[in-house]
Amino acid sequence: MKFLVDHGSVNLRADVVVIGAGVIGASTAFELAKTGRRVLVIDKLAGPGQGSTSASSAVVRFNYSTRDGVATAWESKHHWTDWAGHLGGPQAGEPLAKFMRTGLVMLDAPIAPPGRVLPIFDELGVPYEVWSAADLADRVPGIDAGRYWPPKRLDDDAFWAGATGELGAFFTPDAGFVDDPQLAALNLADAARRNGATFLFHREITSIVRANGKVAGVDLSDGQRVETSVVINVGGPWSTAVNRLAGVGEDFTISVRPMLQEVHYLQAPPGFNAEHQLGPVVADLDLGIYVRPAPGDGMLIGGTEPECEPLLWLDEPEDAYLNPTAAIYEAQVTRAARRFPGLKVPGRPRGITGVYDVATDWAPIYDRTSLDGFYVAMGTSGNQFKNAPLAGRFMAAIVSAVEDGHDHDANPVRYIGEYTGLEINLAAFSRKRPVNTASSGTVMG
Ligand SMILES: Cc1cc2nc3c(=O)[nH]c(=O)nc-3n(C[C@H](O)[C@H](O)[C@H](O)COP(=O)(O)OP(=O)(O)OC[C@H]3O[C@@H](n4cnc5c(N)ncnc54)[C@H](O)[C@@H]3O)c2cc1C
Repeated sequence: MKFLVDHGSVNLRADVVVIGAGVIGASTAFELAKTGRRVLVIDKLAGPGQGSTSASSAVVRFNYSTRDGVATAWESKHHWTDWAGHLGGPQAGEPLAKFMRTGLVMLDAPIAPPGRVLPIFDELGVPYEVWSAADLADRVPGIDAGRYWPPKRLDDDAFWAGATGELGAFFTPDAGFVDDPQLAALNLADAARRNGATFLFHREITSIVRANGKVAGVDLSDGQRVETSVVINVGGPWSTAVNRLAGVGEDFTISVRPMLQEVHYLQAPPGFNAEHQLGPVVADLDLGIYVRPAPGDGMLIGGTEPECEPLLWLDEPEDAYLNPTAAIYEAQVTRAARRFPGLKVPGRPRGITGVYDVATDWAPIYDRTSLDGFYVAMGTSGNQFKNAPLAGRFMAAIVSAVEDGHDHDANPVRYIGEYTGLEINLAAFSRKRPVNTASSGTVMG
């Protein structure tokens, strides 16, 4: 597939410029292209999904701390299970990302109590089972159901103390993960192209052009200018820097900063992945990790920002290390080995580093801004891969309404789920929302 278009020195024109070809930028381009607009996506990297999307664990789960957060994830899951339908009929032979339905076990932890989310599941019709410690031991091969709360550092003797009790959990059978997040972004980019969108790679947006108090275009690193009246910042961990180019952010109640993350891969403990059924995703805030199955009978291990560990804020996403560090590897895999005592831990770290785009309350911003024509899909906080299908739809709905003269700030757009029929109030993703005090303050949202 050829993405690069050469326009010589002639100024480009587009109805909409999308900054960023990650999974959410590609989804936004796809949905806006379907409205008949000429969409141009610009990314400084070499292809779709090469930014933070490429590092994603791509877990699809439904437990969030707000009703609209749960409704968005539950509706999005239906798009993943009908991925070819969502893409509007991919070409024959086109490789597609696959949703792996493994279920997710959420271990009890005071920081995200089941009493907060289960009533929302009941209201919205999200299926779940409540498990005792005995159920947990019975249903998840090799798990230790001990309670170790609160998470402790490895250099704290208390880390090595025995369990103080037993944990229960709840299980959502429809959760899982997408097997290849970068391929999902490519699928969306291909679908956008089939609907007329154009992609320009290896070009950085260096300034946002204004005229008469509105967006008038963007300037690129190669000296070209693109004339447009609508720009959408889907810059992932670079999104706050892109907002600075536009001079927006002052009226935001939510701030957004890049944060380093590491994800590690090990051989799964014996029995975790059966021949015809992979083991479940396990969200373990009791110890401060999550795990999910990985290719080749593997297990992927990530962190959930336990309070005992420093948050690794970055000034710039480029400051992220390229390779996993021994210290974070040791902390995360030792916690995982506590939960799965059969896990074998090699001495040398194996995994990847990535960068979250963390918002104050760990929920995204899908919104317009104070600059007419400038929109943002940002602050995805390590938890919005799963919502990419809907994020694109939200952005198309907001742009269409606002460009038609609708006051989205005063009267927020509402989205009705195609599969679930649920109404989602997009005020939940406003740049000016009250900070959600029920947030877990972690990647769980
Ligand atoms: C380690 C890790 C694990 C994760 N696990 C999960 C998970 O299990 N489940 C889940 O739902 N979510 C998860 N996430 C979050 C999810 O992956 C992100 O929310 C999502 O991929 C963000 O997509 P995006 O399109 O907004 O950003 P990105 O994929 O980062 O894309 C942004 C793009 O913008 C481009 N760009 C930025 N500035 C400019 C500029 N000035 N000019 C040109 N181009 C520019 C960049 O090059 C980049 O390609 C995880 C994230 C990480 C890092």
